[in-house]
Amino acid sequence: MSYNFPEQENNILKFWQEHRVFEKLRQKNQGKKRWSFLDGPITANNPMGVHHAWGRTYKDVLQRYFAMKGFDQRYQNGFDCQGLWVEVEVEKELGFKTKKDIEAYGIDAFVQKCKERVGTYSAMQTNQSIRLGQWMDWENSYYTMSDENNYAIWHFLKKCFEKGYLYKGRDSVPWCPRCGTAISQHEILTEEYKEIVHDSVYFQLPIKGHKDEYLLVWTTTPWTLPANIAVAVDEKIDYALVDYKNNHYWVAKDLAEKIFKENYSIAKTVKGEDLVGLKYSFAFDNLPKVEEVAFRSAQGKPDLFHTVIATDDRIMPITTQDGTGLVHTAVSAGQEDFKLGQKLGLPLIEVIGEDAVYLEGLGEFFGQNAKKNPKIILDYLTAEGGWIFEILPYKHRYPTCWRCKTELVWRVVDEWYISMDGSHVNSKSQFPNPKPFDSAQGEQIQNSKSKKTLRESLTDATQSINWIPAFGKERELDWLANMHDWLISKKRYWGLALPIFECECGNFEVIGSKEELGKRAIEGWEKFEGNSPHRPWIDYVKIKCKKCKKPVARIKDVGNPWLDAGIVPFSTLKYFSDKAYWKKWFPIEIVCESFPGQFKNWFYSLLVMAAVLEDEAPIKTIFGYASVVDEKGEEMHKSKGNAIWFDDAIEKVGADPMRWLYAKSNPTENVKFGYKTLDEIKRKLLILYNVYTFFHTYVDKKDFPKNSAASPEHILDKWIVSKTDHLIGIAAFNLNKYDIAKTALAIEDFFNNDVSLWYVRRSRKRFHEDNPDRNKAIETLYYVLLNTAKVMAPIMPFFAEKMYQDLKTADMPESVHLCDWPSNEHDGQTNLDLEQQMDEVRNIVNLALAQRAAKSIKVRQPIASITIKNKNLKIKDAPDLLELVKDEVNVKEILFDDTIEAELVLDVHLTEELKEEGMVRDLVRSIQDFRKEQRLKPEDKINIWFFANETLVKMLEKNRKFLLKEIRAEQYVMQKDFPPELFKKEVFIDNQKIILAIKKIA
Ligand SMILES: [Zn+2]
Ligand SMILES: [Zn+2]
Repeated sequence: MSYNFPEQENNILKFWQEHRVFEKLRQKNQGKKRWSFLDGPITANNPMGVHHAWGRTYKDVLQRYFAMKGFDQRYQNGFDCQGLWVEVEVEKELGFKTKKDIEAYGIDAFVQKCKERVGTYSAMQTNQSIRLGQWMDWENSYYTMSDENNYAIWHFLKKCFEKGYLYKGRDSVPWCPRCGTAISQHEILTEEYKEIVHDSVYFQLPIKGHKDEYLLVWTTTPWTLPANIAVAVDEKIDYALVDYKNNHYWVAKDLAEKIFKENYSIAKTVKGEDLVGLKYSFAFDNLPKVEEVAFRSAQGKPDLFHTVIATDDRIMPITTQDGTGLVHTAVSAGQEDFKLGQKLGLPLIEVIGEDAVYLEGLGEFFGQNAKKNPKIILDYLTAEGGWIFEILPYKHRYPTCWRCKTELVWRVVDEWYISMDGSHVNSKSQFPNPKPFDSAQGEQIQNSKSKKTLRESLTDATQSINWIPAFGKERELDWLANMHDWLISKKRYWGLALPIFECECGNFEVIGSKEELGKRAIEGWEKFEGNSPHRPWIDYVKIKCKKCKKPVARIKDVGNPWLDAGIVPFSTLKYFSDKAYWKKWFPIEIVCESFPGQFKNWFYSLLVMAAVLEDEAPIKTIFGYASVVDEKGEEMHKSKGNAIWFDDAIEKVGADPMRWLYAKSNPTENVKFGYKTLDEIKRKLLILYNVYTFFHTYVDKKDFPKNSAASPEHILDKWIVSKTDHLIGIAAFNLNKYDIAKTALAIEDFFNNDVSLWYVRRSRKRFHEDNPDRNKAIETLYYVLLNTAKVMAPIMPFFAEKMYQDLKTADMPESVHLCDWPSNEHDGQTNLDLEQQMDEVRNIVNLALAQRAAKSIKVRQPIASITIKNKNLKIKDAPDLLELVKDEVNVKEILFDDTIEAELVLDVHLTEELKEEGMVRDLVRSIQDFRKEQRLKPEDKINIWFFANETLVKMLEKNRKFLLKEIRAEQYVMQKDFPPELFKKEVFIDNQKIILAIKKIA
């Protein structure tokens, strides 16, 4: 039997659409108790991947389940629209290499292209989601690029400004030279580090006033060498002066052997503190930019240029694991270097621009790209002579741009931040240190002792949220404890226009709404009006500086894209336009997203924005799940050739098997996705399909029970009805806790283990036309199938619908998705006892069958007795249950022995009678197979011809009545000429040959 998932699903999609089933569902629940779900926006930048189907399955399962429970819902899908994701793809489309290409093309045309791309892919993702079976109010999806969303963020930023959280800071930040923008700490995830081999260099710096004495220093980023300001040592570490090849080198004592290997000797050892203050010269001292900094530094006191300095352990710890124990300090080109420089008052030399090209004043390097031509510095040092000690390839984990995968550099730049630890004095003179590192010494001021900092508010909110899995809370708290201030600006084009107006007098203001901007505008409003609040149109507007009255334009920066998604608990819930509506739907019950990254990104931005606007957690439960990988456990990549496209998978395998795979996966572990896995899933689902087919083969629609309730009498019926109700209860219990995997596994175990393997197998005969118990059997299996369809409807909406449509009678709702969640009235103590007894039966059966198998006695061969030695047995006095054991084990008698515990003894001595019965059953089985081969239906009657030896003929004659009944034959003919047109078959019973032929009676 097989079921064509994709074909059936496409039919069901049509059915849902034609009958407006989703609309009817919303009407049914409208105005009832609400269940508030918030969709994390999918980036509308590419077709949907199979990994997106994981989260979308969860979202749909929960929404469908709570709809069956009668909850009113919003069903709003979200699209994330702004930011580098989209920009980089549009740049690729247009063949652009740098930001200059965008400017030449025109920002307005470029932004228009970005909007178009979002339009294209949001439409495509909508169709793909519909195909997956996801029910959403697609016409009403939210877009983070909407005016509403952007202005909502303005409001948030204004609040930050008023509370003193927003400030401009100067810091050394990770920078993507291709995208030409800072990359915030939040955006550098573990997976953004790549194993890269760079040329590392040991270089030697001659110490002034000490002939032939050098500082030996090591770096893995030679491009930063022109920016060298100082060499740092650890005051407490031992440093050795090493004699080697007629020169003398200072290195950490513990590293001497590793560096020099042999033929060296240690002349003397001192503590690091004794080296502090030594002056040195370097190969770049003649470059104009370097000369200038050296000159200016010499004016101030103390002059620390090209000096050995003591490090600060908390900023830049020095180890003796690798390198030389002397650390190259380039204040402009490293985060720790910058911090140390700030602490010690070191000067800095900016060496690269926003595209990582060396700046003017750097001699022959000017105009060359530092990252693309890493050799130029090494070649220069080599040509100059006397600087290089050794060049070694070095493999390390190096951060790359999350968007374009370019290796990052560090630059010192002005960017805008949201402070986590207090409010800021915003003045023109000096900008505070953006890292909470030394907040006591910085210019941060605490609001007042009673008020919480943002970091504290976020921590409180995190504590109050139910995290699934539980370790999510620890991860978020850990991030909150260690994160820097939030860098929110980007020097890009397509994104939230930061509403910051910074005047050259040092004053800056933040505008909180379109109306406010309209009132404050003194220039450019007419060029902006009618456009979305994006670049370039918003940039035309100028306001009057409150301090110096000069016209001020907006800063050119756009916002970090996580601002866009973080505001949605407010923007999409009408926080500004309909507070009653917002209050109804806020806080949100659950969000559900893949967690790698989201602790630093979406989860974080949701918390920040709610903390600033309402100082409370916006969500009750945050449900996270892992990643989708290929069947070998490797990341899927287009370039690797192991990526599977959503459209291919869905039309090849179907939505239901995909949903089932995701639903039953453990959310804390990566899902291994592939066609082999999906085939496994399909095989499992076909067990259920076979039960369903069995029912429809035996039962006509006219025989369906009059109502869908069950009043079981037979012990098997009572049991499976109890099991069904038990399942309904378990599924609801787990879905209420958002445990979708446990739900799916319980359903699978139910239809596989209970329904198929036991109930249907033990009940087959009761479905035959002439069985007096037939109606009760039909009533029961009908009940089981109908409720299975309902319970699995949230997870497998298509197959559940198919089952339901085939079972539906006139008085029932027109779709399974319009049904209420079933009640579980038979789920009581009496039935629990029965379930336990049935477990006993099945245990005994399994033991007995295992023993038969061990003794090579076929199950069709009846045996005389089994003796059960177990005084704790519950089924001893339940004859109908014992009957099941007899039947299944094919044993004549069950004996009990209370004396010894837990043993099962089979009496396998075969009398002639038992042996003969076994042979007859063997023959019946062979004839049943023959009937199937001849494609006869179970109800077809036949005539049969036998040719066999005399003993067998006698035996058949003796069992004639039984035989005819079992094989549905009218009569049989022995030892006669077979009708020549009939196909003959040879079978062996107890090693004796029988030839037989059958013919259907017309
Ligand atoms: Zn980039
Ligand atoms: Zn001003």
